[in-house]
Amino acid sequence: MQITSNIFQVGGGDLTSREDAAVYLVCFGDGAALIDAGCGYRNDRLVQNVSQCLPASAKVEYLFLTHCHFDHVGGAEALRQQYGCKIVAHELDAVYLETGNSEITAALWYGEMMIPFTVDCKITTPEQTFQFGSGKVKALHCPGHSPGSLMYITESEGKTVLFGQDIHGPLNPSLLSDREDYIKSLERLMNLEADILCEGHFGIYHGMERVRKFINSFM
Ligand SMILES: [Zn+2]
Ligand SMILES: [Zn+2]
Repeated sequence: MQITSNIFQVGGGDLTSREDAAVYLVCFGDGAALIDAGCGYRNDRLVQNVSQCLPASAKVEYLFLTHCHFDHVGGAEALRQQYGCKIVAHELDAVYLETGNSEITAALWYGEMMIPFTVDCKITTPEQTFQFGSGKVKALHCPGHSPGSLMYITESEGKTVLFGQDIHGPLNPSLLSDREDYIKSLERLMNLEADILCEGHFGIYHGMERVRKFINSFM
């Protein structure tokens, strides 16, 4: 599913499997990156979708994880093996991926165990920019839903595109959610004035007003 000339949704719902959060592909010339990985149940379909969107000369260099929950990360290791890409996550969530914590990663909600995997690049700062191909993606630490939740932003066709995968929450003590951090993070996202929001479970919002309205509805 094409969102802009170089951004696609390649996983989630009917594209892969019902349990998956959305998976997005960002292509910049000969470099590309995936945002989140889904549960990994239908990795075959995900890889097939990527190959339909990815230019032949382009290589997937990064897998940017928004946070540690199973519906976003279950397929991460398989994608690293498929593409040889680097897995990126915030250090505060990476610890639960690397130790295979099935409760805090919500794997138990899906009747699964979290199989530990290594995070290649752990973000330790409020923001960090990654360059690949002819473009870049910026990671922003937006805690609340999980301690190490990240939102990613990029520019496409002169528009600011925000990948805000679990803006809607939920907030749950077993996920180490924090309401005060969550509200602060939503305020930060509002100030970005994004033109397009790619959410993890609630679809894609076009237009600054619609994006603002969606974020605001959770404040
Ligand atoms: Zn989540
Ligand atoms: Zn989610």
